[in-house]
Amino acid sequence: MTELNIHGIGMTSQRTRDRLVDRLEQKGIQNKDVLHILRKLPRHLFMDEALASRAYEDTALPIGHGQTISQPYIVAHMTELLIKKDTPKKVLEVGTGSGYQAAVLGALVAELHTVEIIEPLYQHARDLLHQLGFRNIRTHLGNGTWGWEPNAPYDAIMVTAAPESIPQALLNQLATGGQMVIPVGKQRNVQHLKLITKEANDRYNMETFETVQFVPLV
Ligand code: SAH
Repeated sequence: MTELNIHGIGMTSQRTRDRLVDRLEQKGIQNKDVLHILRKLPRHLFMDEALASRAYEDTALPIGHGQTISQPYIVAHMTELLIKKDTPKKVLEVGTGSGYQAAVLGALVAELHTVEIIEPLYQHARDLLHQLGFRNIRTHLGNGTWGWEPNAPYDAIMVTAAPESIPQALLNQLATGGQMVIPVGKQRNVQHLKLITKEANDRYNMETFETVQFVPLV
């Protein structure tokens, strides 16, 4: 796990962060590494100061440009699904947004690539992740519907914006044995969370989990 460069910042909110993580455990999150990183990572740094006081509520919050930072439970749940089998080494995230989910993944895996389509969000997340000391996260500006070809294939892919159907490019960029967690749905406010495993001979296994609410993948 990456040692985070967060000494002296945000430590005042350790107690509120602990309370949030206790709640996530009660809601069923079990993976110790995931719980550990959520306990340490200062979520308030990933959002506007005006909303920082709400950073440790278990809710999605606006980050500007019509986008949101995901609900902590969903971040924990999607991360847990993706690292359940074995911890993947090289991972792609689509939809960097605030960079919070990228930081959680970056603390757990060897190499994380994350793609964002809105330039100011990309720049902000890139600078913040660098300041926090992550050297294994590569931020990219682009349309993640096409994945991120230069570093493919990936052991795991996490999509944090919802397409109407699963983009073929993302399936193609998954390594054999690799897994992708993705919200899929035609309605703006209800999608199903899916876990896809790429098996030999380009066959795919799909499991469907609860309904979620993500902004659309554009
Ligand atoms: N993982 C983020 C959640 C961001 S919300 C976090 O932890 O904060 C979804 C993000 O996906 C938004 O920032 C949005 O701009 C981005 N997005 C939407 N469509 C995209 C696309 N086609 N390619 C890359 N990013 C996209």
